[in-house]
Amino acid sequence: MFLPVRIAVFAAACLFAAACGGHGTPPAPPPAPATLAHVVAGGGEVAAADLARVQATVTAELPLLAPVFPGAPKHPFFVHVHADRAALPAALAPHLHPDAPAFALLGAHQIHLVLDEVGRLGLPLRSVVRHELTHELLDQHVAPHGRRIPRWFHEGLAQVLAGETYLRAREDELTFALLAQRLRNFAELDRDFPAETTARREAYAQSFSYVAWLAARHGLDELVAVAAAADDITPFPSALAGRLRRPTYWLEENWRAYVLHGSGAPWRIVFDQWFSLLLVALLPVLVLGLRRHLAREAATRRRLAAIEASPPASPPPPPPPPLPWPPAAAALAAEPAQAPPPLDGANVRPPLVQPEP
Ligand SMILES: [Zn+2]
Repeated sequence: MFLPVRIAVFAAACLFAAACGGHGTPPAPPPAPATLAHVVAGGGEVAAADLARVQATVTAELPLLAPVFPGAPKHPFFVHVHADRAALPAALAPHLHPDAPAFALLGAHQIHLVLDEVGRLGLPLRSVVRHELTHELLDQHVAPHGRRIPRWFHEGLAQVLAGETYLRAREDELTFALLAQRLRNFAELDRDFPAETTARREAYAQSFSYVAWLAARHGLDELVAVAAAADDITPFPSALAGRLRRPTYWLEENWRAYVLHGSGAPWRIVFDQWFSLLLVALLPVLVLGLRRHLAREAATRRRLAAIEASPPASPPPPPPPPLPWPPAAAALAAEPAQAPPPLDGANVRPPLVQPEP
């Protein structure tokens, strides 16, 4: 079968247009991630060098993080750099926890970073930037369902990708809470992420540990896909259980078992606190030694009291005067000379004579 020339040319033109997406020009490539991040000076006096340092960190880290969240960032966002906590506008100050160096305003495409707090807390600028960029990228990736993502997942993923925890949270601390059966479940954390420092540090540690455990077993991509699957119809726990094919209680129970028996956290506690544990072990010996020492002191006090209470003894006689040495010549002269005994037969001993044989 042959087609007329005009029809063949028209068909070829249609095929070319279809190959180009139905338009005459190919679609524009998405903007480079770094071009969507705008680093600006916030409150206080921020040195140009500090601003440039933050800009360079954002420019370096954003392209590394963006592939984890396909399609993000789509919207421009701002990184406001403030000099110190006091320089934060009054409306923003309550969002910054006393032991945190930065925060992200989800939905507003804003990150607020406080330079003094970064230095005071001893956190690397790179990890702080990665933490806050993760919040922004995840929020843009799941838009418009950002509110469906629980806070523990946000904080857990941000800490995992930053390679650093906030508030000096440590997985080891979870061991005590688990053994005491006082660790909150994740539904509670979703409803109420604690504000008090100790409870909040524990919540950060719990979020970090659980997300790291999930990522190690199911992959980071799968976790990001779970977040993208949550919407107004599918709550996050249902998306998690559906994509990972495990009930959420099974996941949580296995994670708890991992913390207690597989993470090495109890042994790390023992090694970290070996000196304190050694003191506790030696405490009975120290108490025994102290009791013996006190008993000896009491016996000494009793002896001294008995001596003080007894009547005073008669004074001893004075010692004789010492004899002069060498004896005085006058004393020697006064002493009468003794005459030698007379020689008579009675006191003369016969000479010892060897008898003649
Ligand atoms: Zn955070």
